[in-house]
Amino acid sequence: MNDIPKPLLATVNQAELTDFVARYDQPSFRTKQLLDWVFHKRILVPSQMKNIPLVLRNALEENFCCCSSEVETIDCAGDATEKLLINLRDSNSIEMVIISSPERKTFCLSTQVGCPVQCYFCASGADGLIRNLNAGEMVEQLYHGSERIDALPDNIVFMGIGEGLLNFNNLATAIGIMCDHERLNISPRRITVSTSGYVPGIAKLAQLNLPLNLAVSLHAPNDTIRAKLIPEKMSYPIAEIIEACNAYRANTGRMVTFEYTLIAGINDMVPAAEELAAIARQNRVKVNLIPYNPVSGTEFKRPELSALKNFEAVLLNRGVQTTMRLEKGSSVNAACGQLRASGKK
Ligand code: SAH
Ligand code: SF4
Repeated sequence: MNDIPKPLLATVNQAELTDFVARYDQPSFRTKQLLDWVFHKRILVPSQMKNIPLVLRNALEENFCCCSSEVETIDCAGDATEKLLINLRDSNSIEMVIISSPERKTFCLSTQVGCPVQCYFCASGADGLIRNLNAGEMVEQLYHGSERIDALPDNIVFMGIGEGLLNFNNLATAIGIMCDHERLNISPRRITVSTSGYVPGIAKLAQLNLPLNLAVSLHAPNDTIRAKLIPEKMSYPIAEIIEACNAYRANTGRMVTFEYTLIAGINDMVPAAEELAAIARQNRVKVNLIPYNPVSGTEFKRPELSALKNFEAVLLNRGVQTTMRLEKGSSVNAACGQLRASGKK
């Protein structure tokens, strides 16, 4: 018995396939055919690779873990959102979400099982970090979603379960596979990394020298309000976060977005909106307002529609580029980590 885990097929690169094809005395054009099956047709099942000889298909099964995860349930939120609960090979589970609009399809991907940041309002962090996802498990989420829509997504956001910047190397490898011209060939401009504000990670992301979008979950215009939402031992002062965002914009040329999850009585007041508007304008960031989806076991509540609208109006009146998605399907485990949490009960 060989206990060494096999590499995941979704992470293989051209050089490794060239080597693999040569080891089985196959002509070199097989490399291109295999790249075509795995990354362009997005087929991870060797028996479906019709023009590949049996010996090589069997060799793929022997040498690689062809797909390490599978979709357990699909939860439709009633609007244009589908949430896939995905089982991993160690029987942990994660989620990926497909968000459809007439213009585009966006995939929301997870980066960890659980989350070490443990924001008080978030279902993903309830049990802390279980483990990091490897790069192949992140890419496989994209495959499961693509099978559902029969295409690659228009946009990818790493806003599912986990703090991706605390699993930096695996996240960077997954993004590398997605952006590689020989493999999935997705533009980094269509990929967004969301972080709770892990400052050293923002600096490392800038060093990748890719025009990736950065979204920072600020949720508060000052450190006093922020401490009610994010445990202080896992958070950085807002001033340092802003400095890191400005450096990110300077290095990559990409504008940064602040995500702001609006929670009743905590961060949805007009003075907070005014303070946020001043910061956003001064630092030229966009703001994405997210009405809170209540999580069972927490006291946090979603603001009334009028409070959401008032908050948005303050930002818009002060010239801040602002978006707010008033999604309809909030009853169906629509927020990050909630489907996995409900499956564990
Ligand atoms: N850990 C990263 C990315 C995953 S969370 C981060 O925090 O940015 C992605 C976004 O979902 C964050 O902005 C977070 O605030 C938001 N979120 C988490 N739980 C939510 C909930 N119950 N309702 C609304 N937004 C939520
Ligand atoms: Fe982790 Fe993000 Fe949830 Fe906070 S909001 S616990 S950082 S997944």
